[in-house]
Amino acid sequence: MNQGSTPQLADRLNVLAESATIAMAVKARELQAQGHDVIKLTLGEPDFKTPQFIQDAAVEAIQSGNHFKYTPVPGYPALREGIASKLKRDNGLDYKAENIVVSTGAKQSLINVLLSVVNKDDEVIVFTPYWVTYVEQVKLAEGVPVLVEGSLEKDFKVTPEQLRAAITPKTKAIMYSSPCNPTGSVYTKEELEALAEVLKDYPEIFVISDEIYEYINFGGEHASMAAIEGMKERTIIVNGFSKGHAMTGWRLGYIAAPLEVAKACNKIQGQVTSGTCAITQAAAITAVTGPLDETNKMKDAYLRRRDLVKSLLDEIDGIKTNLPQGAFYIFPDVSAFFGKSFGDTKIENSVDLTMYLLNEAHVSVVDGGSFGAPKCLRISFAASDEELKEACSRIKSALEKLA
Ligand code: PMP
Repeated sequence: MNQGSTPQLADRLNVLAESATIAMAVKARELQAQGHDVIKLTLGEPDFKTPQFIQDAAVEAIQSGNHFKYTPVPGYPALREGIASKLKRDNGLDYKAENIVVSTGAKQSLINVLLSVVNKDDEVIVFTPYWVTYVEQVKLAEGVPVLVEGSLEKDFKVTPEQLRAAITPKTKAIMYSSPCNPTGSVYTKEELEALAEVLKDYPEIFVISDEIYEYINFGGEHASMAAIEGMKERTIIVNGFSKGHAMTGWRLGYIAAPLEVAKACNKIQGQVTSGTCAITQAAAITAVTGPLDETNKMKDAYLRRRDLVKSLLDEIDGIKTNLPQGAFYIFPDVSAFFGKSFGDTKIENSVDLTMYLLNEAHVSVVDGGSFGAPKCLRISFAASDEELKEACSRIKSALEKLA
């Protein structure tokens, strides 16, 4: 006890990093406030509106006067049943409503899961590059993130050999997103089968499979670890409405999980947020059981933009990229520019390069270090074709000035 001193914050805060994507967006807004035309390619957010039929369902829900009370902690039964039908329709998976817990965004779903399965000092293998939040949430749950890095040459994917080498008696879970934020990589069924083959030797390990970009997949069918034989019993699917249905602000995510995990998440959520917004859930029932035409139109637009950005970045000397198969990000390796300078500005790393691009090109992107890959940058192509063309042209000019 520190008697007599000022009140102190908890030590927990010391291990947490601030969300880098949000920090960059703040800086970009500052430049904008000074009158600069900043193109923001930082946030992981669709630039489309939520489809009209989902908006209409929300209006109807409000007008019905039936959606103003606390909702059941794991979500409305009709929504959980709708999600179970979606899992059958899209993924061939059999879940009951009791296996589904709906949360205030997939971000909350993820922390519910980690708090439910991770004990102090348990290791969680995080496929790297990873979505920033994974590592911070593992730490929040007092676990130890173990980073296993997929290289650009291997489409940023982790191999079965790498997975096997990373497993220790303390490994509690593995976690990854596919399609991946930040790389756009998509694990095929065969690749997941090969990883599952390794996990067969370790039946005590959970798989946390973040499938929130499921509907933004350019290559073909979405593959889920839960659909691989023998894996459903220990796979926790995390999914949500933010990306595929362009519903980031509505705050709705969910898990599909073995019953004991679902019950644990329900218990935790019951003491944190309770059930998520009633109106959002009512609209989501319509979204999850409705047609995917609008979702597919958005996907087509992302694919067109992926091709556009990929071809423009390919014209820049020194940039190396993979070909993202899903999501709306590209994650170029920019390490060829480290050690170069322009005037007084020296580029030592991807944070410096990100700041340089913001100040010189007025384009904001996120440094790869935030995703565990300090040679790279993340560019979101959830922006208009015009913005993307202009941004790539400005990035090219700025990078050409470095010597
Ligand atoms: N997982 C990944 C991989 C994401 O990119 C995001 C959003 N950026 C989330 C989860 C969280 O989504 P939600 O809006 O549902 O909290």
